[in-house]
Amino acid sequence: MAGEEAERLAASAAAAWGEAEEGEGKPGAGAKKRKRYGLVEYRALPGYLRDNEYIHRHYRCEWPLPQVLLSAFSIHNETLNVWTHLIGFFIFLALTIYTATQVPNVVDIQSLQHLPDVLRNADIHKIQAELLSCLPSLPHLPDLQNLKDELKSSWNSMEVLPSLSRWHLLELLSNCLPQRFSHTNETSLSVLQSMKEEIANMIAPQLIRPIARWPFYAFLGGAMFCLFASSTCHLLSCHSRRLAYIMLRLDYAGIAALIATSFYPPVYYSFMCYPFFCNLYLSFITILGVATIAFSLLPVFQNPEFRTIRAWLFFGMGASGVIPVLHKLVLFWHQPEALHTTGYEVLMGLFYGLGALVYATRVPERWMPGKFDIAGHSHQLFHVLVVAGAYTHYHAGLLYLKWRDLQGC
Ligand SMILES: [Zn+2]
Repeated sequence: MAGEEAERLAASAAAAWGEAEEGEGKPGAGAKKRKRYGLVEYRALPGYLRDNEYIHRHYRCEWPLPQVLLSAFSIHNETLNVWTHLIGFFIFLALTIYTATQVPNVVDIQSLQHLPDVLRNADIHKIQAELLSCLPSLPHLPDLQNLKDELKSSWNSMEVLPSLSRWHLLELLSNCLPQRFSHTNETSLSVLQSMKEEIANMIAPQLIRPIARWPFYAFLGGAMFCLFASSTCHLLSCHSRRLAYIMLRLDYAGIAALIATSFYPPVYYSFMCYPFFCNLYLSFITILGVATIAFSLLPVFQNPEFRTIRAWLFFGMGASGVIPVLHKLVLFWHQPEALHTTGYEVLMGLFYGLGALVYATRVPERWMPGKFDIAGHSHQLFHVLVVAGAYTHYHAGLLYLKWRDLQGC
């Protein structure tokens, strides 16, 4: 079977680059060896490598692994598919490093740092009154150490609840009691002043603690995994039926991972003050992502009739993102950050949507078959649009981070 295949390949290798370089009609002994690893036409491909009949030439077919790996640096009809996503991978690697080292500077720490001063200058009686109902020891004002311990322990227990940010805490403090301490004795002014200092010093570190970063890094990791898996899939699949099968599964897993992790920043940062919805949406997309990956890995779903179901699964995963985005708009319609992030999300949807359309319709090569074999065919455009969509989502993620770092809930 292998010999038969080799014969067939050699016979149909009219378009092989090796032969073209040697010159027409001069197949010497050296050329014969190069022909074996030359590029072939679509009709010379085994069934599992036939994917797009509008791309006629420049296929690699069952090359040994060293040649396949080196082909990343030669011209064939997958070269740009490999590099569009490999460059995309390096872009996201750079963005991850940038995020880890530079992004905390995006947060306007300066605007937070003056808050302790605001507290120091606030109405001393008001602060005391607000704290009175929350803190039973407050009537014994001279006992400042007790008060301090009490504040600390109540904040520590509140920190356990993810829904309570430092901002929510301030809100609780300011709403916790009517002005029960309005008959303050003026002589206790120095004690009150000292208490206010203590409170300001305790609240200040709470104010500059950053919001969790893991949802943003989960997205960056998902994007890098997807882009790298896709790039290696395009490079290696031509080696053998077995490797093509493995790489294609990995490619599907990468797409599912990108879609699922893309939900994490918008859902987490939009609903961090609504833990029920936050957990609901995150669980839903995680389960759907794992199910899609498991579904794609099962050998029985390799059959062509399951291709449509798989495509619908990916589409359904992406389209379900409309629900949390609309929910976010309902909750935060009055906040400019909610509108700005939605603008980025719409733009991302357009990139991905256009990518899916180009992918499905195989435009432009269907209009001029054989003319876009090396450059300009639909899959390359699809790859560029995926990177553009993910890059747009990165910017939306930065906005979410800034929004929550500055405002909390
Ligand atoms: Zn691809």
